[in-house]
Amino acid sequence: MKPFRFLLIALTALVMTSCGTASKVPITGRTHRLSVSDEQVLSLSNSQYQEYMASAKKSTDANATAMVKRVGQRLATAVETYLRENGFANELQYFNWEFNLVKDNAVNAFCMPGGKIVVYEGLLPVTQDEASLAIVLGHEIAHAVAKHSAEQMSKKYNQSQITQLGGAVLSSAVGSGAAQVATAMASIGLQFANAHYSRENESEADHMGLVFAAMAGYDPAVAVSFWQRMSAASGGGSTSYLSSHPSDAKRITDIQKWLPEAQQYYQASKAAGQATSKTSTKSTKSSSKSTTKKTTNTSKATTAKKFTF
Ligand SMILES: [Zn+2]
Repeated sequence: MKPFRFLLIALTALVMTSCGTASKVPITGRTHRLSVSDEQVLSLSNSQYQEYMASAKKSTDANATAMVKRVGQRLATAVETYLRENGFANELQYFNWEFNLVKDNAVNAFCMPGGKIVVYEGLLPVTQDEASLAIVLGHEIAHAVAKHSAEQMSKKYNQSQITQLGGAVLSSAVGSGAAQVATAMASIGLQFANAHYSRENESEADHMGLVFAAMAGYDPAVAVSFWQRMSAASGGGSTSYLSSHPSDAKRITDIQKWLPEAQQYYQASKAAGQATSKTSTKSTKSSSKSTTKKTTNTSKATTAKKFTF
């Protein structure tokens, strides 16, 4: 075996096994290893969020904007209570929730680390009621709580670190470790806005989001019909989603599997007097159908640029 190859394999093994801090995801209990700190993630994402909000057109629909903020805040309060009472109190310092509604016909929403959540106006004809909006917001909040961005960044960081170590060996030039990390972080930073989550992350966000909505007093059962409407809005199947997203059929089957768990939180929330009164959806159904169809193409064009759900 060539000495270079042996060294590269040894270095790769070292990086793979030594880097990262183990961290547990609330609700699912999954353990992941994060190579980037919350501070690193937040400094990158907060500046991108500021840039995005400076150029985005905020919705002029005061009622809809108030609804997004109200439902979002209600979820955030329930989630924070859960985290505080279940051994995740240290995590609360990293969240500074913001819920925005922007003027954009795309059927979309996205979340940035730390709890910066953006809903597009085009999503509201599909959600139709507050409980379904809570399913989407719960999913977005879950991405932040489960640190899916940090997880994706860690993967990229590890890959780039391995590449850089390989490059250093190849050129026989041992550079400064700090400089290598800075270069790797900068390259990750540039990709940050276009990053998307893995299929596993999306599925986990569905599961956690369902539970979060239930904790906040929204009936999680609405998730099934909501995802069916989403499926119709995107032309059916999974072709209009990024490849990382679960197929619509799998998504709905999984949600049905998680519903009994979520219903327990919903019943507990109802017993504590937090459940919302059901908002009627029927009156908006016929008008929303045509809006939904019109926005589908726009959605396809814009989703790739954002954290899509
Ligand atoms: Zn998602």
